[in-house]
Amino acid sequence: VAVPGGPSDFGSLLLSEPVLAGLEAAGFHRPSPVQLKAIPLGRCGLDLIVQAKSGTGKTCVFSTIALDALMLESPATQALILAPTREIAVQIHAVITTIGIKMEGLECHVFIGGTPLNQDKVRLKKCHIAVGSPGRIKQLIELDYLNTASIRLFILDEADKLLEEGSFQEQINWIYSSLPDNKQMLAVSATYPESLANALTRYMREPTFVRLNPTDLSLIGLKQYYKIVNSHPLPHKTFEEKTQHLQELFSKIPFNQALVFSNLHSRAQHLAEILTSRGFPAECISGSMNQNQRLDAMAKLKQFHCRVLISTDLTSRGIDAEKVNLVVNLDVPVDWETYMHRIGRAGRFGTLGLSVTYCCRGEEENMMMNIAQKCNLQLLPLPEPIPPGMM
Ligand code: ADP
Ligand code: MG
Repeated sequence: VAVPGGPSDFGSLLLSEPVLAGLEAAGFHRPSPVQLKAIPLGRCGLDLIVQAKSGTGKTCVFSTIALDALMLESPATQALILAPTREIAVQIHAVITTIGIKMEGLECHVFIGGTPLNQDKVRLKKCHIAVGSPGRIKQLIELDYLNTASIRLFILDEADKLLEEGSFQEQINWIYSSLPDNKQMLAVSATYPESLANALTRYMREPTFVRLNPTDLSLIGLKQYYKIVNSHPLPHKTFEEKTQHLQELFSKIPFNQALVFSNLHSRAQHLAEILTSRGFPAECISGSMNQNQRLDAMAKLKQFHCRVLISTDLTSRGIDAEKVNLVVNLDVPVDWETYMHRIGRAGRFGTLGLSVTYCCRGEEENMMMNIAQKCNLQLLPLPEPIPPGMM
């Protein structure tokens, strides 16, 4: 039991009253290890590179630092947060407004592509914290809708993705150079590949690292299974076999909500239709859908209007839906980082969960074993038949 004001209490982090009250109201009574380490350093104004595995509460780290530093009497934008997907941006906004509930007059808004620019212009008249995707934020700065003169804090969530070769680098470079020189920068991610380290040296001078067991990628509470399926010469046969296994899994396991990942969006869509027609209503989310459809699908998941969401790697990162306790990989992901991001959608904040990866005998099986070795996974074969009460 935490002693109020004791060392493992948010009260010991010298946060402002309203932020503390907001954390309490959000149900965050004790800081997670990464919060305990990073929040005080961030409050001191240091540039930080924060690396901690999925579900450890990194959003709350930078949200708290941003809220604590705000001057609410000014309408100016003081913190800018970038995220690689629109869904993550929306989610960050929700966390900030939750923790900021006791901060009277707080204005935090999301700016993402696919919504009217005029609306953004109005919201930017008073916006303390702007959260958005790189493309839209750049556009708003170019149009002079977003005034950067007062921005003192620049945050990259899922920084490895944002600064990955060929993704948003150019846009972020441009945004960075439009910001005042004297600003604090935070880069947050679950993995810390060399490409990220290289990219960050351009932006940060002598950053402080907060890295929690960087080699320990295990997600406590998450059991990881794999299942070998026959490899057919015709891809649609393999797909059908995997689909049947998936149906069996769904009917045997009393999961709350499930995320199913497919490497191809055409297949994701198709799978959602098949499952629905076979009595397992499923929604689909993929990059080929428009913004409203995507936000709709995410909202359905979070409000429990949908139990199964089929996705491409668009939602393999960052998405936090607390009731998701089953993650299925219909295909083996392309690399180990993607695998870790995908399965990290279950077992959020140490909760119990289960993942199953279907691998075709041969190439896919080898890929899976390589990932298991690389990440030191305790990978188990899915029992056959699936026993009752496995979850
Ligand atoms: P990450 O970005 O590190 O993957 P998130 O910031 O999305 O993780 O947080 C994961 C989950 O943990 C969220 O559901 C969040 O509400 C919860 N959480 C974060 N910090 C705390 C805390 N101090 N106490 C209780 N729950 C927390
Ligand atoms: Mg996150």
